[in-house]
Amino acid sequence: MTRAELTSMFEEFGEPKYRATQVFTALHGRRIRDLENITDLPKKLRAKLIDTTDVSRLTVETKYESIDGTRRYLMKTHDGRPVEAVFIPSEKRDTICFSSQSGCPLKCDFCLTAKLGLLRNLTAGEIIEQIVTVLNDVYGESNETPHGTNLVGMGAGEPFLNFDELIKALGIMSDEDGLFIVPDRVTISTAGIVPRIYDLANVETRPHLAISLSAPNDELRDKLMPINRKWNIHELMTAAKEFEANLRRGERFTFEYVMLGGVNDRDEDARDLAKLLSKYQLTRAKINLIPHNGAEQLNYTASTPDAVKRFKSRLESLGLDAYVRQPRGRDIYAACGQLAAMDVEKAVGRR
Ligand code: SAH
Repeated sequence: MTRAELTSMFEEFGEPKYRATQVFTALHGRRIRDLENITDLPKKLRAKLIDTTDVSRLTVETKYESIDGTRRYLMKTHDGRPVEAVFIPSEKRDTICFSSQSGCPLKCDFCLTAKLGLLRNLTAGEIIEQIVTVLNDVYGESNETPHGTNLVGMGAGEPFLNFDELIKALGIMSDEDGLFIVPDRVTISTAGIVPRIYDLANVETRPHLAISLSAPNDELRDKLMPINRKWNIHELMTAAKEFEANLRRGERFTFEYVMLGGVNDRDEDARDLAKLLSKYQLTRAKINLIPHNGAEQLNYTASTPDAVKRFKSRLESLGLDAYVRQPRGRDIYAACGQLAAMDVEKAVGRR
């Protein structure tokens, strides 16, 4: 619930407005999960809230911890759908990767989540609850986030197919009395739902944008990412150009490029990619190269470290900014494209 929604709920209860602030601060700011523990509310009101509302509708099924410190949380919704979130610690700043859908309807050929299909969209509450669950597991129920938190909407699902709940969740999470994770700390990744790229450009306080490109031409992108048959590279780049025109001072945006051995990692692919960005004059884009994960379950080979390095320096010599995303939590199926509600023990057993 937004603060406005909470306020009208308390109005209906015949309670003063400030109850909304008290409850909002307790649930989002102090991350209290048990209404019984909001002791600044009268006992009677607490009992009423317990009777009529739910604080949390996600339960943690299993938690996996990687040798690199990454944690993957396999959660379930109240109706039994899997939801995954990942905690990625780092010295500078921790990152939480959240899911926007249970499963995913897009059929990207290199992605394990695609195998689930779409189970359903998550609500704003279920999106926020993932982040609170992770923070409470790492730091306990408090208002502490010692390293500060970056959020990436790069878990399961396509965020732009659940746009309204996503934007609602980000609004609630940015509140100073709540989690206080401001949009500037948030990056949302889309496979290319073109109309929503235009919409995002018009959201007043909006997160940063990443676009999963992964191929420099329509022929290949049609195969890798079937969403390309609906909105092709020209339409995607035109939207990206428009988005670029609306960037804030100093802000950039990202193209993600999954590196598939022999498929999209050749010299000519680097050349075509550079040509593409220069054709649309996308000067404020950077490129994140993501080595493919989980190749053993999919019919791909990850690009070799040498091929990734070479691709990166080709792009650089063509004037682009390219970075290699280090995979985190591969051993627990927490890395990009591996969130498929997989039980690690079972998965490892199957190999
Ligand atoms: N649906 C959105 C959000 C997912 S973000 C999107 O596609 O952008 C997850 C990122 O991981 C995307 O850039 C996706 O292309 C990438 N990815 C998917 N499968 C992968 C895999 N097996 N290895 C590495 N990256 C993968």
